[in-house]
Amino acid sequence: MKTDHAYRPDCLFCKITRGEIPSSVLLETDDAVAFLDIHPVNKGHALLVPKTHHANLLELDGAHAAHLASLLPRLCRAIQAATGAEGFNVIVNNGRAAGQTVDHGHWHIIPRWSDDPVNWPWPHAEYLGDELEQMRVRIERELKSG
Ligand code: AMP
Ligand code: ZN
Repeated sequence: MKTDHAYRPDCLFCKITRGEIPSSVLLETDDAVAFLDIHPVNKGHALLVPKTHHANLLELDGAHAAHLASLLPRLCRAIQAATGAEGFNVIVNNGRAAGQTVDHGHWHIIPRWSDDPVNWPWPHAEYLGDELEQMRVRIERELKSG
């Protein structure tokens, strides 16, 4: 795992957070910026990003994560009020398999309407036998070692 969180000159969101590429900024703190997604799932779709380069959520330390999370309620309230959305999704795509295309971790805030064309919810699987308990134990073990 990379641990160098300095500015990356080849990173789109590093450039955006430094104002080197224009963006429609909604909110800015010393450590984070929120701006409108240029290709929104629904209009008002915003991205919340740390100013320092973290490729994904796994690289984010607790303090940065807590700061970003602390901004979410106010940002989401503003997006919902401004768009008139009925609800919203807060999503982090982490890794290519999950749809991440920009390798500077970010939260999506997507305003939602009950009749919008967004393909949600995802299909759900079923646990068989003791799979659920085995999964719980595996994750608990990782938590204890991490
Ligand atoms: P993800 O697929 O989770 O990595 O999300 C990357 C998001 O960045 C996509 O929703 C893009 O539409 C958005 N995006 C890409 N380039 C820009 C840009 N220059 N300004 C704002 N949003 C962008
Ligand atoms: Zn970056």
